[in-house]
Amino acid sequence: MATYDQWLDSYSAAYDAVPGPLDQPCPRCGNHRLRLVFTGDLERLIGYAHFWCDHCLHGIGVSRTAIPDGAVIQDIRRPRADREPKIPNYRLVQ
Ligand SMILES: [Zn+2]
Repeated sequence: MATYDQWLDSYSAAYDAVPGPLDQPCPRCGNHRLRLVFTGDLERLIGYAHFWCDHCLHGIGVSRTAIPDGAVIQDIRRPRADREPKIPNYRLVQ
C-alpha cells in the first residue's frame, strides 16, 4: 500500500513533467495510468490539483498551488457538472 508521501513524490514528478507525457507508474498498483488535472482560474493560474490513477482509482488532492504552463485545467468558474475533463470519484489517500 502506497503512503501519502509516496503519492506526493509521484505528484511532484508529474507536476514537473507538465505538459509532457505522464509516464510514471502508479505508486499503488504500478499501472501507467496516472492523471493530473487542475481546477482553477484560467487567468491567474492558481488552483487545486487532482492526481489519481485511472486504473485503481486512488490518488491525492493538493490545494492552492500554482498551475504550470500547459497543464490540463478545469475552469473553476463553470458549474461543477460542466467542467471538463471529468474527474472520476477516486479514493483519497490520507
Ligand atoms: Zn493505480
